[in-house]
Amino acid sequence: VVAFEDDVVDLAVLHGIGLVGDGIDPAVFCSPHLNALLAQGPEGWRAVRRDLRRALLDPGALPAGALVPLDQARLALPVAVGDFVDGYGGLHHATNMGRILRPDGPPLQPNWRHLPVSYHGRAATVVPSGTPIVRPRGQVMGEDGPHLVPTARLDIELEVGCVVGVGSELGRPVPIDAAADHLFGVVLLNDWSARDVQAFEYQPLGPFLAKSFATSVSHWVVTLDALEPYLVGGLAAAQEPAPLPYLRRLQPALWDLQLEVCLQTAAMRAAGQGPAVLSRTSFAESMYWSAVQQVAHATANGAALRPGDLFGSGTVSGPDDRHQAGSLMELSWGASRPVELPNGETRTFLEDGDTVVLRGGCGGTDQVAPTVALGEVAGTIVPAQG
Ligand code: CA
Repeated sequence: VVAFEDDVVDLAVLHGIGLVGDGIDPAVFCSPHLNALLAQGPEGWRAVRRDLRRALLDPGALPAGALVPLDQARLALPVAVGDFVDGYGGLHHATNMGRILRPDGPPLQPNWRHLPVSYHGRAATVVPSGTPIVRPRGQVMGEDGPHLVPTARLDIELEVGCVVGVGSELGRPVPIDAAADHLFGVVLLNDWSARDVQAFEYQPLGPFLAKSFATSVSHWVVTLDALEPYLVGGLAAAQEPAPLPYLRRLQPALWDLQLEVCLQTAAMRAAGQGPAVLSRTSFAESMYWSAVQQVAHATANGAALRPGDLFGSGTVSGPDDRHQAGSLMELSWGASRPVELPNGETRTFLEDGDTVVLRGGCGGTDQVAPTVALGEVAGTIVPAQG
């Protein structure tokens, strides 16, 4: 399905009457996920998009059942996620985290400007927007040793997720200039994180349970074709030192996306107050590494891509850590600087009943409706179970 104004367009209906995707197997349009369409490759995606635009010139002429009102649709995960790689490509985020966690050392590790530092995440716990987030338990070190406890430092990470379209062959790296042809589109992504669990478990192999309990994504994948007019050089155009040739991309590779983090506490909800904006940031002015570089790097050893693989950008934080950061860890500077909310409440990390909403788009500001909306990804914290 495709979102169109206040409706959901059922591609299976349009394909059935010959309006969309002529020559493509009908099963592609009857699947619960987009993966079969992703596997068609750029020519297939573009043909469907072109046909759809033509069909929607006169939506009144479409048959019954082709359009379903958006508010009557139950939205699900757009793709069956294959492998999930989460990056750490935000310059200000990586710098802030280094300053908070290792105040006596250089903020960036020696590898950081040479490769897009990443780890393999848990695809099975990628959930659609609106899924409740159960406060996870994990080992946290106390004065008398570790305890298995609900996290007291539940955080968010504002990210943009890139969805792989057509896969690649095992043993053959994807050259950076071909990487964009393997990417179908983007989603908003919240990489929920348990900072106290992370602090004890992450050395030397990286995060495990602190990140794997849930990752929320938006319901709609916005195609790279739709975002193409908004490609800019941004921070990635000023990489110094220049990366190795397999990571070098001279063309603009970041989207001029404006993103925001909003929070609604249980008390705000009870009082009828909507989510408050905690942070606003520019993707292009925050990210040092681009999605095409992530793909070139992830396949440099011959690892293969599959349709539906997901690359998280890493937390998107701008230079102002009080107003542009994509995590509470930074906004509260390691819980040393509580964030004040409009109703007088404060937060360092998330409490049960809090709802976090991430939003984003291109071509406008918060004052003007964006030309391309990424929609939103929302999640509400519910108490630890068991
Ligand atoms: Ca992350």
